[in-house]
Amino acid sequence: MDVEDTLLMIPGPVKVSSRVLRAMSKPMISHRSADFGDILDDCLVLVKELFETKNDAVVLSGSGTCGMEAAVGAIIGKDDKIVTVTNGKFGERFTELGDRYGTSVPIDFPWGTSFDLEQIEAALEKGAKAIAMVHNETSVGLTNPAKEVGKLARKHDAIFIVDGISSVGGNDFLTDEWGIDIAITGSQKCIAVPPGLAMVTVSKKVEDMLEDNKGGYYTDLKAHLKSAKKSQTPYTPAVSLFYALQEALHMTAEDGFQNRRNKMSNLAEGVRQAAAALDIELFPQPDQYSAYSNTVTAMKMPEEISDDQLRGGMRKRGVVVSGGQSSLKGKIFRIGTMGVCTEADVFRTIQTLELVLKKEGYISKLGAGLEAASNVIDT
Ligand code: PLP
Repeated sequence: MDVEDTLLMIPGPVKVSSRVLRAMSKPMISHRSADFGDILDDCLVLVKELFETKNDAVVLSGSGTCGMEAAVGAIIGKDDKIVTVTNGKFGERFTELGDRYGTSVPIDFPWGTSFDLEQIEAALEKGAKAIAMVHNETSVGLTNPAKEVGKLARKHDAIFIVDGISSVGGNDFLTDEWGIDIAITGSQKCIAVPPGLAMVTVSKKVEDMLEDNKGGYYTDLKAHLKSAKKSQTPYTPAVSLFYALQEALHMTAEDGFQNRRNKMSNLAEGVRQAAAALDIELFPQPDQYSAYSNTVTAMKMPEEISDDQLRGGMRKRGVVVSGGQSSLKGKIFRIGTMGVCTEADVFRTIQTLELVLKKEGYISKLGAGLEAASNVIDT
């Protein structure tokens, strides 16, 4: 099937609107011009609104991991410890980053299960310079309790780093209220820009602590913050992606930040209801502090059906969904409802899933998933 007829329902990169694609095709300008400075300043104002923060923000030319690396590298040196809380692939990335710059103290929970706050507190009691966690663990479809971990970080005077890569813009994400010192998101998720930009906000407390020549060179947060104050970036930025970011942020502001979040949450609820009606189990195990993700729904692969039959069958019919990562390969599949995803996109996805399930003999009749989703999706 032609890629233009294909519906991308993975948890990033997500579908990009034609308005944003058109914005990207504008002629190149000098990144040292006043015009670029205006675009950057405009983006930073809206980025701060998106993160619900008064903290300073920077935009790095690099994917979400670049933002994670900038955060860890700025804080952790070879004699420092960072508690990394993990229940999926991206939490584990913080552990790897922590060990690259200093020493990680990983608090690992089985993938898809909820954090045990007491274990996290016990680790902080032993002393650590920082604690890092993923708010929305994309690999398992679970939203972790940033607010509660933030309280523990404050109590134990640890710098609080949060990966909001698949949640900022799609979930409530209260940077200031939750006391997040460094918050990160990526362009290719909830704000629906192509991949390649990372947005990072930094608290005043951390800004005051940042040292010269610490951590990565390209990802040096201190250098990026210094340049941003002069409406600049330290090195040549991905100018066309900044056009895209500016347009996408304006589109989000026009829709209303809260309305966008509500929409993603409503679409995810539709996917969950469809799964229940089709006898497909959700993968994550939320508790009173965590929640099913609003931006990506992870479901167990029915035992009778292979990954290739399910996702391959859907792809053949023009809908691309994600599989599981690492040890979850073949065991789960994931549907993203981020960015400018519409009701029609979700209905087409569920219909295609049903067609495949019927072809494979898992259901005998079409329609139950669509019916269940339509009962909750606001159309
Ligand atoms: N953290 C989370 C929660 C993610 O979902 C992703 C990407 O899927 C990343 C980190 C890594 O971001 P990137 O692939 O943009 O470097």
